[in-house]
Amino acid sequence: MTTFADLSLIPELQRAIADQGYTAPTPIQAQAIPVVLAGRDVMGGAQTGTGKTAAFALPILQRLAPHANTSMSPARHPVRALILTPTRELAAQVEESFRAYGKYLPLRTTVVFGGVPMDPQTAALRSGVEILVATPGRLLDHAQQKMLNLQQVEVFVLDEADRMLDMGFIPDVKRIIAMLPPKRQNLLFSATFPDEIRKLCASLLSNPVTVQVAPKHATADLVEHRVYPVPRERKRDLLVHLIRSRDIRQVLVFCATRLGANRLAYQLNRDGVHAAAIHGDKSQQERIEALEAFKAGKVGVLVATDVAARGLDIEDLPFVVNFELPNTPEDYVHRIGRTGRAGKTGQAVSLVSPDEHEKLAEIEKTIRKEIPREIVAGFGPDAARASSLMPERTERRRDRRDREAPRLTGGAAAPAKPSPKPPAKPADPIFSQPYQAAEPGAPAGAKPVEPRKRERQVAALLGGLRRQE
Ligand code: AMP
Repeated sequence: MTTFADLSLIPELQRAIADQGYTAPTPIQAQAIPVVLAGRDVMGGAQTGTGKTAAFALPILQRLAPHANTSMSPARHPVRALILTPTRELAAQVEESFRAYGKYLPLRTTVVFGGVPMDPQTAALRSGVEILVATPGRLLDHAQQKMLNLQQVEVFVLDEADRMLDMGFIPDVKRIIAMLPPKRQNLLFSATFPDEIRKLCASLLSNPVTVQVAPKHATADLVEHRVYPVPRERKRDLLVHLIRSRDIRQVLVFCATRLGANRLAYQLNRDGVHAAAIHGDKSQQERIEALEAFKAGKVGVLVATDVAARGLDIEDLPFVVNFELPNTPEDYVHRIGRTGRAGKTGQAVSLVSPDEHEKLAEIEKTIRKEIPREIVAGFGPDAARASSLMPERTERRRDRRDREAPRLTGGAAAPAKPSPKPPAKPADPIFSQPYQAAEPGAPAGAKPVEPRKRERQVAALLGGLRRQE
């Protein structure tokens, strides 16, 4: 097994790594660090939770270390590394990582993203900064104000490229790339590689080395997946029941829409379960406060949308609940990536109503796993029938649901019967391959990342919200 000592990192970085308490590099770090140190372009198939930030941040810091200086002159601190991320939260976390890993090196780091005043960012840029982490829209705003010189960028990182695509940022990204000097190192990371991203890789990367790891949460036994079949109108009651009966102290709950997230958080509070919502309509300050309250244990339930939760680094999360299934299987993988981290076990619980059967089938096909079903007494598909107070409209929906119920549950009374096996399909490189070390300059070790077809664009999930920074 590779150790950090094997990776030829300078002592300043070794010390910072030790301070973080990391004992060994993650697979993506073991693969990417030597390649980036060697100056090669990288196409990285990895998502948040794999340790990918350190996989690019550590070698970038090492490559920039010779430029480190304590001069007050802005001219001595040009932007040498530019990291683009799709969301504010991820940008903030990436910058935090650069600061933590670079704490023993006099290199300046700053982050710029939308939703907060520009002035403090402008001041930071004006005084000089070697490492700049940014979301695309705000970076272009600074460029328009002529506050930005990117002519000395040596390393460019495009993080979560597929999410950039989903959020409609690729044109902005291309405009930014056009502002960079032609001779530079490029690193692109993406969890999936739809055609658009492949095209971008072809135009951006020069003779890249491919490094990739399976998103360990998708296949790891550390995450226990479970589906609770439940009528849509009983989901909230079931959630409260699960939280109370299992004494769940900290849970991240996913909703499909911002409105739904707000409503659920409000109703949970009304039910006596302390909850906060985090989504794109909230100000940056509100999001940070909700996240901090959650991390500190002041709020037990954080209700989130996919975009808001993207890149959130919440350690030791024992439970993730899909109150509604996401529109794409990829988002399911991203969601459950919030649990089962760092060797800890986690549970991914999905409350699935009959209208979500198709989504569930797609998810099972993608993760190549049958998710066990469990019916909680009083909340199963027949639960709604018991209520004599149901209005007409619900009654009709229930009829439709009942017709569909056996597909989901394998018979209403049967407990936890797995669904039929998903049809076999060609090995999926993201989910089925073991970790592969790609040697620099050794094409045999460099595994191509196969394109994966996206079923539906997340932009649709966002309701056309394109510039959510
Ligand atoms: P990332 O995929 O970059 O978002 O990282 C996910 C989490 O893994 C972060 O909390 C990191 O601090 C943590 N991490 C990164 N590298 C290591 C490592 N080598 N050992 C243990 N934890 C790590």
